[in-house]
Amino acid sequence: TERYFLAERPQGRPDDDTFDRRTVELDDPGAGEVLVKISYLSVDPYMRGRMAAGESYADPWGVDEPLEGAAVGEVVDEAGTEFEAGDTVVGNMSWSEYHIADAAGLQRIETGALPVSTALGVLGMPGRTAYFGTREVLEPKAGDTVVVSAAAGAVGSVVGQLAKLQGATVVGFAGSDEKCEVVEEEFGFDACINYKSTDDYVEALAEAAPEGVDGYFDNVGGPITDAVFTHLNVDATVAVCGQIALYNAEEMPTGPRKLGKVIETRATVEGLLVGDFAPRFEEASADLAEWVAAGDIQYRESVVEGIENAPDAFLGLFEGENIGKQVVKVSD
Ligand code: NDP
Repeated sequence: TERYFLAERPQGRPDDDTFDRRTVELDDPGAGEVLVKISYLSVDPYMRGRMAAGESYADPWGVDEPLEGAAVGEVVDEAGTEFEAGDTVVGNMSWSEYHIADAAGLQRIETGALPVSTALGVLGMPGRTAYFGTREVLEPKAGDTVVVSAAAGAVGSVVGQLAKLQGATVVGFAGSDEKCEVVEEEFGFDACINYKSTDDYVEALAEAAPEGVDGYFDNVGGPITDAVFTHLNVDATVAVCGQIALYNAEEMPTGPRKLGKVIETRATVEGLLVGDFAPRFEEASADLAEWVAAGDIQYRESVVEGIENAPDAFLGLFEGENIGKQVVKVSD
């Protein structure tokens, strides 16, 4: 099978030298193992943290070790486990065409009428992040103004829609006019700021959120976050989910620059980690599936075809090439 390995730890922005594709021979699955033919691989921003040696919330990948992440596939050899050939499963797998997985780490998926790739997106980890981050951390109330960064992305798109369902006015930041159109028209945000064609985020937000900001779901950090802090209202809540604008930084710029605003407003700034909600993942996915089926939640996926394009799909996250969840289609 073709498989990707971490060739070297990137300094700053990862590039082609970070990845090494090799052909590996697979043994037959052993006791308690299954052979999976991978159909979709997930590429996620947090994987940048796994490429670095330092401590992060996910263990670092070893140099020369396979890259891995969430994947969906079909069981082809179940070797006496609880699975049957033909089952569609999700779990942690290597960036490969075929992977031998520990059966205990796999789950059968039933996405109903939805494509199986949704198990990596709106019904999977990003959807659950949005679900718990919005409902348990941000907790928007009717009439609140909520701002979401990376609003066209896998997490942000769902956060904004969940906040709208709670009755909030929702403003997004996204990196192109095309994305802003999707954010407003499909995801139903009240406004969207294309930060790549705007010099003055503070001014743009004054227009888009004239009553100030009661809730901020931060996926990016950096200058967008500085601008949003400038507009926080008294008792605002900030849910810190991601800092993708800083993941490739070789030297951390000074910041956040607007923490004085937290004093002034007595805002609550709270970090969130989706893994903390693991005992409730099924509940989240069931609710999300119901809302998607009912048309209350819209989702998008960007699909790149071919295992050989997995590195580019990952690197594209930092260029904003995806709308909604970025996945790699490895096989039919
Ligand atoms: P997305 O689908 O949102 O993809 C990443 C997006 O980030 C890009 O499409 C791009 O959109 C935007 N982006 C990239 N660089 C910058 C930048 N310099 N400034 C502003 N925006 C940028 O990814 P996910 O939905 O999977 O993840 C979103 C965030 O949530 C990430 O930071 C991720 O690490 C975090 N996360 C945290 C979890 C947790 O448990 N805490 C769990 C899951 C995700 P654009 O074109 O708009 O720039």
